[in-house]
Amino acid sequence: MAKEELDCSFCGKKKADTNLLIAGIDAHICDRCIEQANGIVIEESKQDNSTGFTSDVMLKKPQEIKAFLDAVYYWSRTNQKSNVCSGL
Ligand SMILES: [Zn+2]
Repeated sequence: MAKEELDCSFCGKKKADTNLLIAGIDAHICDRCIEQANGIVIEESKQDNSTGFTSDVMLKKPQEIKAFLDAVYYWSRTNQKSNVCSGL
């Protein structure tokens, strides 16, 4: 019943076998399990970002892209008169 018999609630390692044992309300987690959990969180967020990025790109319709390029072209033409893009 000694309080020093703490162990990781995730992998069951004794406190003495870990570099760090963090106490929660009703559980403990060791440094190795934190590293593993952190890796999972990073992997999960990577997946979320990549799907979000892909769907964002896919939302752009060709007409929208053309309209944007037309606007850029028009802008560059009108600014040419005021000698901003003299190279064109
Ligand atoms: Zn652990």
